[in-house]
Amino acid sequence: MDIAIFGAGIAGLMAAITLGKQGHSCRLYERSREAHDAGMGFILMPEAILYLHSLGVNLSGEFSGIPLHRYLCRNAQGEVLYEEVIPKGSRSFRRRDLMAALVNALPADSPIIFNSELEWLDFGDGGRISAAILRSGTRVTAELFIAADGTRSRAREVLFPDWPTRSAQVIEVVGLARCSETLRWAGNNLNKFHSPDGGLAVGVLPVDKEHVVWFVQVDTARFAPPPAKEGNALSWYALVRKLTRGWAHPAPHLLAMTDPDQIHIWRPIDADVVPYFHQQNLVLAGDAAHPFSPFTSQGVASAIADAVALADALETWTKSVNGHLAKALANYSKERHQQCEQYLVQGRELAQKFLAPISETECWLPLAT
Ligand SMILES: Cc1cc2nc3c(=O)[nH]c(=O)nc-3n(C[C@H](O)[C@H](O)[C@H](O)COP(=O)(O)OP(=O)(O)OC[C@H]3O[C@@H](n4cnc5c(N)ncnc54)[C@H](O)[C@@H]3O)c2cc1C
Repeated sequence: MDIAIFGAGIAGLMAAITLGKQGHSCRLYERSREAHDAGMGFILMPEAILYLHSLGVNLSGEFSGIPLHRYLCRNAQGEVLYEEVIPKGSRSFRRRDLMAALVNALPADSPIIFNSELEWLDFGDGGRISAAILRSGTRVTAELFIAADGTRSRAREVLFPDWPTRSAQVIEVVGLARCSETLRWAGNNLNKFHSPDGGLAVGVLPVDKEHVVWFVQVDTARFAPPPAKEGNALSWYALVRKLTRGWAHPAPHLLAMTDPDQIHIWRPIDADVVPYFHQQNLVLAGDAAHPFSPFTSQGVASAIADAVALADALETWTKSVNGHLAKALANYSKERHQQCEQYLVQGRELAQKFLAPISETECWLPLAT
């Protein structure tokens, strides 16, 4: 089948890998001008790593990430309040490394066409997509369209124009630092320092043999964000440094040593899960289908799981006699929708716990399961 995929992030690349293995011909249309080097890092649970291995994604050597053993919840003075074992086999990765490993695993006949932003979808008979229109005006035709165009998905907007979305209350300021001393201090652990009143935390985790990622989570209702016109990365950087001044080592040191040009402001959105991830010959995958709260740590793993579920649905359809493609895709939508609704609920619960004073709630591993 001839498949057009929009977005060459984790979900788009994974869809091209899984469907390419089944003999489908995939083209990826990516908005950016070149492969993303941006992004910091994330944690992958064992199940997601197993999927990647089974698909031939090479996560050895420079792409192997760091095994994570324990979650250490600390107060702002650095005392450990709570410790939890992280599921065995979990690892942290630099986003750049995981993206490179996925690009290496792409079938040779799955080109990534950069500078190709999805702008609109033309609907034909019965809600079928007759063409996707790029910002350049180019019309893209295909038998199946996969929208993997991230949190602010254009395809999701076209499909559900009135679906309410709002900015999440908690934003994340994320940075990457090269620091051997902090690497030794962090060991194989995810560390998180919490303000006693809630609503402010600093996380630190190793992502490769040279770098750690830090992230500061800020309740924007409590700590006034920089004025909109100054609300750029530098103003946020200054704000989180001010808010965490005097916190335990190595948090202030890590923030201070990070190149402010390399930090990223993560502005998640809060929205209910859209009613379905499939209409006729269009499917939504990854953040495009279900933008999650960062507290779930599920963005990457769910993008991988979506691609695997979609490939399973298409394989069942290919093998069936008189099978209907639309039915197979509806099964994909149903299966993933159920799972994603649970993550949405858990993400909102985790966000509420984060906002409460740390003494009044149990400490928790920031992960939806
Ligand atoms: C640059 C970047 C850095 C990130 N860094 C981190 C991080 O450090 N930690 C973390 O936990 N998560 C990070 N994320 C988010 C994380 O990758 C996703 O939550 C998760 O992997 C789900 O993957 P996805 O493919 O659905 O979305 P994404 O990984 O966001 O990929 C979406 C892709 O679609 C492209 N795109 C967007 N709109 C269009 C359009 N209209 N037409 C064509 N292409 C389009 C984007 O450029 C992007 O390549 C980052 C995402 C990006 C894009």
